Amino acid sequence: MNAGDTRKIRLVMHLRAMGISDTDVLAAMERVPRDAFVPAQMQDQAFEDIALPIGRGQTISQPLIVATMTQALELNDRDKVLEIGTGSGYQTCVLAHLCRRVYSIERHKPLLLQAERMFDQLRLRNITAIAGDGMKGWPDQQPFDKIICTAAAQGEPPHALLEQLRIGGIMVIPVATSEYQVLRRYKKEGEDNTFAVKDLMQVRFVPLLPNLAPASENEDDKYSYATG
Ligand code: SAH
Repeated sequence: MNAGDTRKIRLVMHLRAMGISDTDVLAAMERVPRDAFVPAQMQDQAFEDIALPIGRGQTISQPLIVATMTQALELNDRDKVLEIGTGSGYQTCVLAHLCRRVYSIERHKPLLLQAERMFDQLRLRNITAIAGDGMKGWPDQQPFDKIICTAAAQGEPPHALLEQLRIGGIMVIPVATSEYQVLRRYKKEGEDNTFAVKDLMQVRFVPLLPNLAPASENEDDKYSYATG
């Protein structure tokens, strides 16, 4: 066993100690090599339970948050999942091991292209990703069994996302108030858009922003990737 494997197993044990009890989620986290999604200059921190920068002012989420969100979705292998905020693609790959298909949207095209290279490298064929504004959802592919958003909505989730969730479906999304952000789980109960809502934990995510990112937002190129 190499040093990377040891660090990865230690991370999974940490997630278990922190209350992640779904063994399928833990197994999926063990299968996805987080170091491959982390910039070259931060390899030594790839299996620490912290968020790390991935360029364009964005971050790869903290493993505990990835695990918590994934577990809250109660995924099964028939689920069609919509993800908003592909970022590095790390969360996308964890989802891909646990559901039928992931549709993922990222507003920074360079990040999306890098993530797509990772999907190829890891031979994950059940991911469809596009550059676009995830606040509008993916109308052509709705309804979704599950929706996950990895950027914080202001005040309440975008209406389109609540609309595109199947009845009985679950959405997990960080929601920002003026004071703090909370990770919120919505379960759709009826056609008239009634939801059971549960707050899971306080979190800190980058904001959900409208529209495709203009080229001027793509200038921060400080972090290059370990692979790809
Ligand atoms: N899940 C990612 C975390 C990425 S950070 C990972 O594991 O690496 C959140 C991402 O959401 C950023 O890449 C940001 O560009 C993206 N984002 C923010 N608003 C968006 C929107 N409206 N549509 C699509 N992506 C968005």
